[in-house]
Amino acid sequence: MSLSSAPDLMVRTAPLYDRVKSVIPSIEWPAFAGDIDAILELKREHDAVILAHNYQTPEIFHCVADIVGDSLALAREAMKVDAKVIVLAGVHFMAETAKLLNPAKRVLIPDLGAGCSLAESITAADVRLLRQRYPGVPVVTYVNTSAAVKAESDICCTSGNARKIVESLGVPKVIMLPDEYLAQNIAAETGVEIVTWAGHCEVHERFSAADIQQLRAGHPGIVVLAHPECPPEVVAVSDFTGSTAAMIDYVGKEKPTRVVLVTECSMSDNVAVQHPDIDFVRPCNLCPHMKQITLPKIRRALETMQHEVTIDPAVAAPARRAVERMLEA
Ligand code: SF4
Repeated sequence: MSLSSAPDLMVRTAPLYDRVKSVIPSIEWPAFAGDIDAILELKREHDAVILAHNYQTPEIFHCVADIVGDSLALAREAMKVDAKVIVLAGVHFMAETAKLLNPAKRVLIPDLGAGCSLAESITAADVRLLRQRYPGVPVVTYVNTSAAVKAESDICCTSGNARKIVESLGVPKVIMLPDEYLAQNIAAETGVEIVTWAGHCEVHERFSAADIQQLRAGHPGIVVLAHPECPPEVVAVSDFTGSTAAMIDYVGKEKPTRVVLVTECSMSDNVAVQHPDIDFVRPCNLCPHMKQITLPKIRRALETMQHEVTIDPAVAAPARRAVERMLEA
């Protein structure tokens, strides 16, 4: 589609392009405008809302999403959604969490293949074995897990509240699954003994302390914000560690002249839109799972009402309890 062949479409979508013009070249916009226009209409037609994770690309994050945020924010907001249909622009465990908290709503994920290396690293049977090995030790499970794994857990956590959740249990030892690095980082912060699992985020595990040193050498004065799924050696040489939401807060409050967000690629694009005066240095580690979600797939999901996420009720009840305990903590 070219600008001249769709003048009405270009006029209609011009205010949306205005939001993302600093990160999407004008020559690329016509490739997005038709799907965006159709998605906005389909949302009205089906009484649907789109929840998008911070790692979604800017044309999704800023142009079609109704609610954006990290896993914790999406879980919280999913509970307040007043629409018949939820489309989760994120990965499968996020869609499951939305379904757990909205059992009566139809929850769609645009691509069933949008998984997560952490969620795939552990099964419900693994958790049962750990419980046998460490009787009486509470199990804290990262939300980046399947509903079946959540169902075997005492309480969930996100990277945004992991410290608070572990401390809230008031015990000297916990089992924290499945992210080994997050667990090690929380153990260092809290002093609680943590039994870990060897799961890793394939995006964050690729960063090293040497990468950070190189960034500092090449970009004097740079402020380094790292995600707690990064290895502890990365956290140790960073200026701040926090969830994606905490990084956004940090940038908004501290307004560093030059910053690097040591996390998934699209985060910097999405945050840069709101802070045109800040120099974002972008080491690019893409999440191949998050990138399964595209505008054409969101459009198709709304046109066909697929792929619907369902959870066995026997699994859903205990999994929901673990998520709700987290939200109440
Ligand atoms: S960025 Fe890492 S934790 Fe997030 S979905 Fe991708 S693989 Fe999973």
